Amino acid sequence: MGAGSLFTDDANPGAPYWWEAVDWPTLDAPPPGKVDLLVIGAGYTGLSAAIAAHDAGAKVAVLDAGIAGQGASSRNGGMVGPHPKLSWEALAKDFGDDTADEIFKESGEALFWVRDLIAHEGIDCDFQTTGRIQLAYTSNHFEAQKALAAKVGEKSAVDCRILEKDELKSEIVTPMYKGGMVFSEHGALHPAKYHRGLLEAVLRRSIPVSAPCAAEDVTRLSGSHRIRTPKGEVRADKVVLATNGYTTRPFSWFMARVFPVPSFLIATEPLSPNLIGEIAPGCRMMVETRARRSYFRISPDGSRIIFGGRAALVDIAPARAARWLRDTMCQIWPTLEGTRLSHVWSGYTGFSFGQMPVVGERNGLHYALGYSGSGTVMAPYLGAKAAWQSLGLSKGDTAFSRTRLDRRWYHRGSAPHFLKAGDLWYRHWVDRRENLAARR
Ligand SMILES: Cc1cc2nc3c(=O)[nH]c(=O)nc-3n(C[C@H](O)[C@H](O)[C@H](O)COP(=O)(O)OP(=O)(O)OC[C@H]3O[C@@H](n4cnc5c(N)ncnc54)[C@H](O)[C@@H]3O)c2cc1C
Repeated sequence: MGAGSLFTDDANPGAPYWWEAVDWPTLDAPPPGKVDLLVIGAGYTGLSAAIAAHDAGAKVAVLDAGIAGQGASSRNGGMVGPHPKLSWEALAKDFGDDTADEIFKESGEALFWVRDLIAHEGIDCDFQTTGRIQLAYTSNHFEAQKALAAKVGEKSAVDCRILEKDELKSEIVTPMYKGGMVFSEHGALHPAKYHRGLLEAVLRRSIPVSAPCAAEDVTRLSGSHRIRTPKGEVRADKVVLATNGYTTRPFSWFMARVFPVPSFLIATEPLSPNLIGEIAPGCRMMVETRARRSYFRISPDGSRIIFGGRAALVDIAPARAARWLRDTMCQIWPTLEGTRLSHVWSGYTGFSFGQMPVVGERNGLHYALGYSGSGTVMAPYLGAKAAWQSLGLSKGDTAFSRTRLDRRWYHRGSAPHFLKAGDLWYRHWVDRRENLAARR
């Protein structure tokens, strides 16, 4: 198919599908001169931190360098599930058995915490408990899933079960996968409406949000901080940094430890409900185990497939990403060959080298960062933890303060050039090796 027929006539490559459902309020007032706690970043992490601190009695303000919400929090796939990226064994090796146990347990609890937050704040974000299925690309991946399912059952109250290959057809109609693992409590939401609901909860509390208004410099004084912005200075006793994959200078220490990995998504043109029902009868959130990291779902109105993945580890043109993702989608469902795309967009996920989020404090700056692609639950949950920790409250305790923000010799903290090498390595080695393994 030629490039001309890749997109629908009214497609606007680069603009997220989700943005069609929201508008962006004007928030251009300067920040207040003095607060108890200043939150830097107005995505899920920052907004949740602001709500938690305000409700604990603090005078709070929020800044964002861009339009509040136009970071990852309105660009993501809207898949709701907190399970740790690492196996229990990998966590135990790095942090000890007790911390691994607590991370498993707390991840399960975080999901319910976020569901309560959505209900309590009355956030209309098309939330549905759809369940999520992880699809095994190779037999080895399927064996690893079986071990993980056993560990999840042993270490948490999370409901998780294995599906053999012949059981998969009630979930997804494709010969691609060797089996799967279902997390029935996981869900789906509309990410931009979710962000909007959190922002409304902040504004309802009369918490000032200034955007665009970047924190250009933070100076630690005795007992407080001075934050320079283009719209004036703020004095704050406490500061919470909530910039994740969009962290820039002056936060160089964090840039060296949390790096931006682009993730790309497409939306198909509207499809017939019959076709969607035939190819994805389970209506779950779907993720693959292969290194392409494809993740896909049906749009909240049931009309389209939203399909994401690792089109590249570096920024590439939207049309190139769109072609790559559509080809991957058509490998899974050849019947979609010829389907045009209404949207393609990307955003930056904030990865830590340990692939785990971290809540902590450095030089008086509290932070929650490094969700490594899994933030619809963990970002608001850990944003609240960071805020409570900054206020010295024991409800800020979390096992995610025992994970670490490490650095590596090959990343100096400016642009993550090592991802260019990673991109080639994945394309020419990992993907090929996995494709060979999948044929066995
Ligand atoms: C394409 C994509 C798909 C994803 N899919 C999923 C998914 O399906 N499920 C899931 O759980 N997670 C997913 N994620 C991850 C999830 O979106 C993120 O983990 C989450 O949104 C992080 O929220 P945040 O508030 O920490 O960061 P962001 O929402 O990225 O917000 C950070 C904010 O900080 C601001 N900022 C930066 N520097 C400054 C400064 N100096 N001063 C003031 N403000 C500043 C930025 O402007 C930005 O608005 C996905 C991410 C992407 C990009």
